Amino acid sequence: MIYLDNAATTAVYPEAADATTKIYTQQFFNPSATYRHGIEIKRILEKSREEISKLLGGKSKNVYFTSCATESNNWVLSTAFKAKNANLVVSSGEHASVFERAKAYKASGLDVRFAPLDRNGNVNVEKLLSLVDENTSLVSILHASNETGVVNDVERICCAVKEKNHKTLFHSDGVQAFLKFKFNVDASGIDFYSISGHKVGAPKGIGLLYAKRQLQPMLLGGGQESGFRSGTENVAGIISLNVAAREFVAATERANVTAISSFIETELKKISGVKIIGENSFRTGYVTCFTAEGTRAEVIQTMCCDKGLIVGRGSACSSKHRGNRVLQEMGLSLSEIDGALRLSYRPENTKEEAFRAVDVLKECIEKMRGHKIG
Ligand code: PLP
Repeated sequence: MIYLDNAATTAVYPEAADATTKIYTQQFFNPSATYRHGIEIKRILEKSREEISKLLGGKSKNVYFTSCATESNNWVLSTAFKAKNANLVVSSGEHASVFERAKAYKASGLDVRFAPLDRNGNVNVEKLLSLVDENTSLVSILHASNETGVVNDVERICCAVKEKNHKTLFHSDGVQAFLKFKFNVDASGIDFYSISGHKVGAPKGIGLLYAKRQLQPMLLGGGQESGFRSGTENVAGIISLNVAAREFVAATERANVTAISSFIETELKKISGVKIIGENSFRTGYVTCFTAEGTRAEVIQTMCCDKGLIVGRGSACSSKHRGNRVLQEMGLSLSEIDGALRLSYRPENTKEEAFRAVDVLKECIEKMRGHKIG
């Protein structure tokens, strides 16, 4: 099988899986326990926090482990309306975990403003800034799109937002950006940053929120995570996130993911009626979103799957609904959206896999169109 749906989730690194097994079966102690075993596991947990914070370019005291990035994103947004008359600004290209939360706030009568995307898939910064005013408490802008891999220059956007209102806090969902290119959270000026373990070879069920500013506690109880997110820590998840992140970094140093995605895109563009979405923007190199005229993505996806190639069809979280909010925002027609597929990579993908993926995609598109390509 060739798996090119890594933006949905990734295989767990064996080293990370081994680390979880060790925690589950041998070092299963509660990190709040005051006997030696508990103290030791707490030390290991804190070491992981320290190491992960370094990968982010931040400080360990600002790392709050959560169950997933959806939780991190919801947590940050929940703080937006503390003050009377406060408003929240998010982009229309956000992942559902920000967008749906924001929409629900708006439906409940709160002041939520949506900044549009441009045709290249970036947030329209001018329009975004026009929405920021003296009552804007929080702006949340996706770092890299799960749909297209398009990267927003969140450092620059954060700076421009704060120039307009220095009290406005800035959050970025970094799930699809984390470890994919150089980024330093503390140097960026951003106040909050979310990441998820299962996109970088850790198991599902572990995420974190990097928070430079004080938040309202997410869960009250035993006082874990400095009292901000109570609940016995997911020790195995935290430790395996650290192990996986290190494996991911080492793998990226050996690999050239951009060369793989560029090759695939060059080959796909040779097929008539194929368009790479977001092509003119800076992208992570880990996602290729493309549309093939006269095809239907769900059919091509199934045909590919039958031939051992797994490809995505936009965000797995929203694949139940027809259309695609983000691609629509970018001005794609409904028929283009119907033919849109997403290939997403990990550092371990090989050139041979890329050659085979292109062949399979060509065959399937040809078959669906009922004629040979080129
Ligand atoms: N944000 C982005 C950009 C994502 O791609 C995803 C998952 O697809 C999430 C948030 C949600 O992550 P999690 O599955 O950890 O809740």
